[in-house]
Amino acid sequence: MTRTHTLGFPRMGAQRELKFALEKHWRGEIDAAELEAIGAELRERHWQAQRNAGLDFATVGDFAFYDHVANHIQMLGCEPSRFDFPGDEPELSRYFTMARGVAHEAGHEGCTHGSHDTFALEMTKWFDTNYHYLVPEFDANTRFSLASVRLFNEVAQAQKLGHAVKVVLLGPLSFLWLGKEKQAGFDRFGLLESLLAVYEQILVRLKWQGVEWVQIDEPILGLDLPEKWRNAFERSYWQLARSGPKLLLATYFSPLSENLRLACQLPVAGLHVDAVRAPGELTGVADWLPAHKVLSVGIVDGRNIWRTDVDAAYARLRPVADKHKGELWIAPSCSLLHVPFSLEGEGRLDAEVKSWLAFAIEKLDELRVLRAALDGEESAVEAELLVARAAVAARRSSPRVHRADVALRLARTVAGDDRRASSFAERQALQRVRFALPPLPTTTIGSFPQTSTIRAARVAFKRGELDAATYREKMQAEITLAVRKQEELGIDVLVHGEAERNDMVEYFGEQLDGFAFTANGWVQSYGSRCVKPPIIYGDVARPAPMTVEWTTYAQSLTKLPMKGMLTGPVTILQWSFVRDDQPRSVTTEQIAWAIRDEVVDLEKAGIGIIQIDEPAIREGLPLRRAVWKSYLEGATRSFRITASGVSDRTQIHTHMCYSEFNDILPEIAAMDADVITIETSRSDMELLRGFGDFKYPNEIGPGVYDIHSPRVPTTDEMVRLMRKAATVVPPANLWINPDCGLKTRGWPETEAALANMVAAARQLRSELAAA
Ligand code: GLN
Ligand code: ZN
Repeated sequence: MTRTHTLGFPRMGAQRELKFALEKHWRGEIDAAELEAIGAELRERHWQAQRNAGLDFATVGDFAFYDHVANHIQMLGCEPSRFDFPGDEPELSRYFTMARGVAHEAGHEGCTHGSHDTFALEMTKWFDTNYHYLVPEFDANTRFSLASVRLFNEVAQAQKLGHAVKVVLLGPLSFLWLGKEKQAGFDRFGLLESLLAVYEQILVRLKWQGVEWVQIDEPILGLDLPEKWRNAFERSYWQLARSGPKLLLATYFSPLSENLRLACQLPVAGLHVDAVRAPGELTGVADWLPAHKVLSVGIVDGRNIWRTDVDAAYARLRPVADKHKGELWIAPSCSLLHVPFSLEGEGRLDAEVKSWLAFAIEKLDELRVLRAALDGEESAVEAELLVARAAVAARRSSPRVHRADVALRLARTVAGDDRRASSFAERQALQRVRFALPPLPTTTIGSFPQTSTIRAARVAFKRGELDAATYREKMQAEITLAVRKQEELGIDVLVHGEAERNDMVEYFGEQLDGFAFTANGWVQSYGSRCVKPPIIYGDVARPAPMTVEWTTYAQSLTKLPMKGMLTGPVTILQWSFVRDDQPRSVTTEQIAWAIRDEVVDLEKAGIGIIQIDEPAIREGLPLRRAVWKSYLEGATRSFRITASGVSDRTQIHTHMCYSEFNDILPEIAAMDADVITIETSRSDMELLRGFGDFKYPNEIGPGVYDIHSPRVPTTDEMVRLMRKAATVVPPANLWINPDCGLKTRGWPETEAALANMVAAARQLRSELAAA
């Protein structure tokens, strides 16, 4: 008999109940007890959903009020000492302080804290997902202890409801790996022994509570690990094996590769593998895994929203079921945290696209159908199998998915389509003449403050309460305001301000063919923040210009150059749910051609400078280094396709933020943008050093101030940063701009900061002239 389970379930609730409860709690509208009650109710519902789908276990330990890694920080007793919590501060309040910090903004009224703000834990991306976890901090003084009973209470809650409980824990090696040293020269690896001792205590206590299975997640087994870390697995798991419950070691997100045998041989009772991301390894795992161990196959895609092709899944599972003599479990490939809650009540998707999808609730149900098929009980799920097969067949042959014109366009791509006509040096010379900009030209990254009036107008327009003409007038008024302000400030290359855009991906997706949008397809990004990624279901094409009208309107208001503003293909792909029926690189290239059409149309409309934002290039990097090269080649090629339909006189900008660039500089150079603007101010221009060492050939605008804070930087600060930048990059190639778009800021601080920025540019120009 096959068993079914899930590695984890979305926490937010069907209607994002957790988000709203958290935000009420943070505003002081509900107390901790009320918040706890809502959390308990959500867990209860989510376990019930697992029971309804006939799963053999209810998974406990995946719930978190903010983040599961933060839960482990508290359970393992390693809250960083810098928070200096008073002894009687309640657990939940400490938790939210670690997650959100205590802000005492400069000049903030009644602030008695001077400069000792309490910064939140750093947040970073959970592997290659768009979920962000809170980063544990380690130093020589880090001690571990079993410091929270939250997990045990949740176990008791589930048991009381009559569930067969499987607990999920983040494994000790992954927990340690995901943290950061906060002390020079300290190696967190040295903390392993003391950490293991606390994991043992946790396991003993779970056993004592009557828990039979503990799923222990070690996703780092899918990374390129240093030898020392790999070697630590065996002894660590020998130590944990003594303690009690049966351990199901769970891996996901990428192939195990050289760690496959290691994973199969660890002294645990079962192994979960991701058969969606690493289908090719399934046979190897079935060969290597001893018969007494449980094999859990992650067969339903936990990272994407497509309905499972049951016949393909069956064909993959059958030989494994026959070969593996031990118990077989089936599950989603990873936690369902990364997909929306349910399709039920989804009103924005059309019926056809909807029939191709499965969200978390539907994925649980797919396990039930698959299990029946595997166990020879097909007749019990006959009707469901018919529906599932019909949907998969319809999607495969739908003309909405496959378009001959798009295929033809890609097939006709010739060498050179991804190259500008001339070299950068030749383009630069032409552009210098055309734009006649001063040295160290100033610009901004695209968006200006998204005021409440702007948002209200957009919402009213979407709801049909505002007609198109009135909406256009309102947006044009915002554009006019932005242009006037930039002219008054003395900025050299202007932007229209992006007032009409809700989001840099959704705005384009809504106007492109092949994209669908949900009403309620929310996925947790961090804490209470959720995102609603578009779904790319079909071949991508651009039926009509998307930005030309707004941009030319803006240009008509000024003699200064107006920069067109687009989102690049890699970023659009990265922040969407992507087709699983063709390689990601093909979808990216389709988007690239659609955006290229827009670039060409902007040029035709007289726009001479066009920025194509690619903030997500770095975060799209695969988890395994071995496949970086092919990803980066595809990504840079797609960018160049978007940028290469224009003449040498047209200046192409790109923008990237929050990234470590140093290990991908050759590829950034291979994008061959005439100008790149990047975030550097938070690193005090250190990020730029790599560009200098690498002798990055094209022009660069290193961000001179952090737009994430309302603080107004002084002219002197920005002058200092630019002087530093000029030591690594030739001044003739430098631009001056903020770190990123200004949409989250207010106008007063934006104007003050930009005025200082322009003053800094002027001061530096006169210094240059005098030199
Ligand atoms: N052009 C966008 C803006 O200014 C860029 C946003 C981003 O880099 N994330 O808002
Ligand atoms: Zn940015």
